[in-house]
Amino acid sequence: MKPKYVKQNLVCLAGRLAFIGALVMALTPTYAQSNATNGAGGQKEKIEGFKNTPMLPGGKWHMHDPDRPQPPVVTPGAGFSVGAAPPSDAELLFDGKDLSKWQNENGGDASWKVQDGYMIVSRANGIRTRGKWADFQLHVEFAEPSPATGAGQGRGNSGILINNMYEVQVLDSYNAKTYSDGQAGAVYGQMPPLVNPAKPPGEWQTYDIIWESPRWNDKNELLQKATITVLFNGVVIQHKTELIGSTDGIGGGVAWRAQSFYKPHAPEVFVELQSHNSNPVRFRNIWIRDLNIAERQ
Ligand code: MG
Repeated sequence: MKPKYVKQNLVCLAGRLAFIGALVMALTPTYAQSNATNGAGGQKEKIEGFKNTPMLPGGKWHMHDPDRPQPPVVTPGAGFSVGAAPPSDAELLFDGKDLSKWQNENGGDASWKVQDGYMIVSRANGIRTRGKWADFQLHVEFAEPSPATGAGQGRGNSGILINNMYEVQVLDSYNAKTYSDGQAGAVYGQMPPLVNPAKPPGEWQTYDIIWESPRWNDKNELLQKATITVLFNGVVIQHKTELIGSTDGIGGGVAWRAQSFYKPHAPEVFVELQSHNSNPVRFRNIWIRDLNIAERQ
């Protein structure tokens, strides 16, 4: 073969390889592995996550980015808000005995198992409140499966799904890592918790959530983004966090790992407890206070 043809063939081969490589990259939704040095002693630790996802506002991190720093671990104070009785103006949503305040996604009775003062995720679908509130304070207690099973997003995954559009992640994040915008207390896919005050599996943990719904005018122009503040075991982990839009991968119409955006809805929203592959997370002592912000203004 003449050198000219060899060169042409090599160029052609290189082009094909580059094309195949690009195609494989485009079609492979597999986990990227982090090069972050998060492990004890500084050794490299593989953290699940994605680098082929949209950039979040600010342009620093991808959604579900394995390189986004893991929040510092904090040991919470013992017992903060565990077993907290509802204030007089709260509505008790679950007292450990019955699910009458809850329904399935079709409006039928909620059918998760209730036993020994708690409910346990026991169906493929979540359950949601029959009531709706625009802006609220929510107290929820949960316990992760013990002994722990699974890893990453498969380790005791549930969630607080506001209107089935916005998720505060429930996960076993005690000595367990995943992409930081997907760990316990994250606004999933958007904002990791400020710190990680998770308790060991089996222990009762608390979320105290303050939520303000997004608002639109009658032309469906967004007037106000949703904001959320979350205390996790008594530690502030989200502080007036402004949501980018609906959470990816739940019911709000944004596909998993796709760019988040807002879809107009009434300010009154329900609260759903997520069934993530029926991971058997337990819940108890749930109550809510209507903040009546709109009426106060
Ligand atoms: Mg979840």
